[in-house]
Amino acid sequence: MRIDNEVKLGFKDVLIRPKRSTLKSRSQVEMNRTYVFRHSQTTWSGVPIIAANMDTVGTLAMAEALARHGAVTALHKYYSPEELKRFLARQDDSIYDHIMVSTGTMDADLERLKQIVHALPLLKFICIDVANGYTENFVAVVQRVRDLFPDKVIIAGNVVTGEMVEELVLSGADVVKVGIGPGSVCTTRVKTGVGYPQLSAIIECADAAHGLKGLIVADGGCTCAGDIAKAFGAGTDFTMLGGMLAGHDESGGEILDENGEKVVAFYGMSSRAAMEKHSGGVADYRASEGKAVTVPYRGPVEDTLLDILGGLRSTCTYVGAAKLKELSKRTTFIRVMEQHNRAFG
Ligand code: 5GP
Repeated sequence: MRIDNEVKLGFKDVLIRPKRSTLKSRSQVEMNRTYVFRHSQTTWSGVPIIAANMDTVGTLAMAEALARHGAVTALHKYYSPEELKRFLARQDDSIYDHIMVSTGTMDADLERLKQIVHALPLLKFICIDVANGYTENFVAVVQRVRDLFPDKVIIAGNVVTGEMVEELVLSGADVVKVGIGPGSVCTTRVKTGVGYPQLSAIIECADAAHGLKGLIVADGGCTCAGDIAKAFGAGTDFTMLGGMLAGHDESGGEILDENGEKVVAFYGMSSRAAMEKHSGGVADYRASEGKAVTVPYRGPVEDTLLDILGGLRSTCTYVGAAKLKELSKRTTFIRVMEQHNRAFG
């Protein structure tokens, strides 16, 4: 047993210090980022916010809505190749810059992935997603997918430490997904005691990835636009959102009536609810590591996205960053014991 005594921080432990700035208006702030991916050598430009590949967030309707503003949707893995093909046939080719196809690591998942790539040759992003990215088998799958699809952008995760980010980048991942336990409907930390405060995970993993020309996605734990700003300030290249994009017309969750209020079902992908829906129940050998909740119904996702982008632009003007790209360079975090005034909730 060993104790690492260095304190690790979450979003709630810091604020961003304002800095003198020459920017006149937040409308001047450039939110698009352009990346060249290490392995696939493809170039991408867009707003680096990704809807999570959960079946009550990462839907085709979400992809259509977010793509209009340059953002990305990681589609959940329960769409058949035919469904994807039908949807994409109705879209402009530029949609491929705004969708990721998700896969697990079982043989059946990889067969489905091969069928999808065969059916959609223009597909750009593949997201290989497991709760625990630390296994040898996961690394082998990343290598295998890289060998199969040398020109696709591979996102792989989740991990939270630099050495595993390096291993995944060297094994073929262009982008490593970072986050164990911070998610809004995640119970991993309670069920297993495993986790890593997300802000520190982002800082350490971004540093490890960037040293090898890899990138990261900060996945989970953002509860407001300020948290997203902190994630970018900490050095993430993309930020993935689940709960913040749940509850909208496009989110795909069932709309329910709770004491006269409209609410929407939202659940973790390894919750009992998700496993019962997709795999016929929770297998004996595993515990569910997610919960099912309802969130207030929030109408079209466009309003929420514009709110988030407005918040991020404002962060940039507070620190004098003319572009989202400059935000991390201009960020000084201060450690705090308070966040915001809760007098009125
Ligand atoms: P949020 O933005 O809601 O805080 O976090 C979204 C992320 O939570 C997802 O992208 C995914 O990584 C993670 N997540 C989703 N469902 C589950 C689950 O059932 N269990 C755990 N441990 N994490 C989940």
